[in-house]
Amino acid sequence: MSRPYLVAGNWKMNGTLEGNTRLLQGILVGLERCPDVEILVCPPAVYLESTGASLKRSRAVLGAQNLCEQDKPGAFTGEIHGHMLKELGCRYVIVGHSERRTLYGETDDIVARKFRAAQICGLTPIFCVGETLQEREMHQTESVLGRQLGAVLKLCGIHSLAQAVLAYEPVWAIGTGRTATPEQAQKAHAFLRAQVAARDARIAAALRVLYGGSVKMDNASALFSQPDVDGGLIGGASLKADEFLGICGAAQAQMKAV
Ligand code: PEP
Repeated sequence: MSRPYLVAGNWKMNGTLEGNTRLLQGILVGLERCPDVEILVCPPAVYLESTGASLKRSRAVLGAQNLCEQDKPGAFTGEIHGHMLKELGCRYVIVGHSERRTLYGETDDIVARKFRAAQICGLTPIFCVGETLQEREMHQTESVLGRQLGAVLKLCGIHSLAQAVLAYEPVWAIGTGRTATPEQAQKAHAFLRAQVAARDARIAAALRVLYGGSVKMDNASALFSQPDVDGGLIGGASLKADEFLGICGAAQAQMKAV
């Protein structure tokens, strides 16, 4: 089964109105070089509307970095409901990013609720899982990934993964310049796909599993050439048009090679 590559830029808490315009102009002029790759931009929430306007006549799509897990809008100061993201034109939303888990105390349970909230609003969750360095060194990678995935499966069921994207993001590789080797990434991705396949082989075969963690133009090809790596979730390198386009180009080259 062929799975179209997805390259998603997570801008995190970066940007200015002026800087975003320049960055998006830089990205948009290069998009025709990667016509078969799905390209997603996830700016901070306050820039969703302006970014959406810039992307309007392009192929690139808009996503958010976070949403509230509550079912209904209401008295939740500072939070953003999925319907609001949808209204601004978002198609995707990141849930379970390790920075949200570690810095903002999001448990597996909260992440699962966010995943469900996203789908209820018609947003596709990009569901991040990944182990810390300590967990890897203690040979707990698979048990951590299984636990994080299990929380969503328990709340939302296996069929929910038919409308989701998974992202393997080893915590020790995010923003550190230290990337998982292609073999390490493949092993984790294959494990995740096998967990899903054990419950539903068709959903597993169609599920896109992105790799995230210090992906750059220079290492993207090797990562994307792995059979279970279906694109990338890109942090730092998504803030530079040339780097981001280089990564999208690496995904496009893999599609040609298939
Ligand atoms: C991320 O934020 O999801 C990420 C992978 O960041 P970076 O590419 O900077 O490691």
